[in-house]
Amino acid sequence: MSFQSLGLSEALLKAISKKGYTTPSPIQEKAIPPVLEGHDVLASAQTGTGKTAGFTLPLLHILSENPKDKFRPIRALILTPTRELAAQVYANVREYSEFLNLRSAVIFGGVNQKPQVATLRQGIDVLVATPGRLLDLQNQGLLSLKRVEIFVLDEADRMLDMGFLRDIEKVIKSMPEKRQNLMFSATFSKDIKKLAHGILNNPVQVEATPENTAVEAITQKVYRVAKGLKTPLIIKLISDGNWKQVLVFGRTKHGANKLCEKLDKAGISAAAIHGNKSQGARTKALAGFKSGRIRVLVATDIAARGLDIPLLPHVINFEIPNIPEDYVHRIGRTGRAGANGVALSLVSADETTFLRDIEKLIGNKLPVEVLEGFEPDPNASTQPIKQGQGRQNRNSRPSNKSGNSSKSSNKSSNSRRPKRSTDRRK
Ligand code: AMP
Repeated sequence: MSFQSLGLSEALLKAISKKGYTTPSPIQEKAIPPVLEGHDVLASAQTGTGKTAGFTLPLLHILSENPKDKFRPIRALILTPTRELAAQVYANVREYSEFLNLRSAVIFGGVNQKPQVATLRQGIDVLVATPGRLLDLQNQGLLSLKRVEIFVLDEADRMLDMGFLRDIEKVIKSMPEKRQNLMFSATFSKDIKKLAHGILNNPVQVEATPENTAVEAITQKVYRVAKGLKTPLIIKLISDGNWKQVLVFGRTKHGANKLCEKLDKAGISAAAIHGNKSQGARTKALAGFKSGRIRVLVATDIAARGLDIPLLPHVINFEIPNIPEDYVHRIGRTGRAGANGVALSLVSADETTFLRDIEKLIGNKLPVEVLEGFEPDPNASTQPIKQGQGRQNRNSRPSNKSGNSSKSSNKSSNSRRPKRSTDRRK
C-alpha cells in the first residue's frame, strides 16, 4: 500500500516524502482511512508504530479540505500526557503541515505561559497540549475549545496512570458535543474501555501489530547479576560493545542521577531525564542524546514515555520495572520502524518476582546469561524490593517538585500495583 492510495492530499504527500517515508506503517494503513471518512477511531498502538502520523495526517487533511474561519478558532485538539510527547507531536504536526495553510501551537506546563498565550492570540487551527496547562489557560479565559471539530486523546492509558481522568473530563465538557474523536492507547484496561465508551461515538477499532509481536522482533536478554555489580556490568557492556546510543531505564530519580555520575566517571557521557529535572534540562538532555553528544540517556518510566528517538539500537533495564506492562513500553523504544533492536535487563535476586511477572505477560521465558566476574550473589534475598518511588504517584499530576527521593522509598511500604495483565487488550 502507498500513501497516495490512502487518499491524502498532494501537500501532505509532499511533506511525507520530505520526511523520507515510503510506505505507511500498519497503524497508518488501518487508521487513516476511517479517520478521513469522519469516523471516531479507537486505536491500539504504542509509540514506535508511527501512530502520530496515523492521526496527524488525516486530521490535517480534513482541516485543510474544509473552509476555515479567518479568525482561526482551535479546530483540532491533541491531548498528550507528557510535555515531551506534546513537543514531539507538535514537531510532527509542523512538519506534516509545512505545505498547508494551517497554523499550530503547543502548550504545556513547566515553562512561561506568555509566549504560548501570544501564539494562541494569533489564531491557530491545531493545538497540541498537556491537560494541566490547557485547563489553566482555559480558566484564565485565554483559549476556547468551543469550535473544536477533531479531538485526539493520545496515550490514553498513560493519561489515566498519571491521574488525568478528571482533567480529561473537564476538557471534554468544554468542547462541542458534535465532534470527531480519536483515541490511542497501548494497553486496554477496564478503565480505558470505560473512558473510550464515554468519549467515542460508535468507533472503528484499529490495531497495530499486537504488542507481543512487536516485542518478539526485539532481541532480549537477561543478565543475572549481583545488585552491587550492576554499575560495573553496564559500563562493561556499553564499553565492550562500543555502543553509541543507549537508553537506560532506572527505577528511581536518585538512582538515575547516581548512575549518570558513574558512567561519566568511566568516560561514557550520560544524562538523566526524570521528573525532578527542569523542562530545559530534559530538552537539553534529549537533544544531546539525539545528536550523539551524549551516549547514554538514563530515564525513569514516566520521563521516557513517548520519547521519539528513531532507530534506537540499545535499551538497557538497569532495574526491571515492577509493572510488567512498563517492560513492554520500555523495550518498545528499540527496534522501531523496522530496525533491529537489543533490549537487555540487569536482574538482581530481589527482582526475581518482577522478572517472572514480565515473562508471564509476554508469554515467553527470556534468555538468561551470567558474565564471569559479574555473577549473582547466591546469598541475596529474592524478597521483592520495596517500591514507592521511581514511578510518580498515579493519582497526581507529575510535577517538578514531586520529590520521590530514594530515602523516602526505604521507609515506604511495598506499593506494587495489582497486576493488570488479565484486562489488557484483547
Ligand atoms: P511514532 O509511533 O508516531 O512515535 O513514530 C515512531 C517513529 O517512526 C518516528 O520516528 C516517525 O518519524 C517514524 N515513522 C512514522 N511513520 C513512518 C513511516 N510510514 N515510515 C517510516 N518511518 C515512520
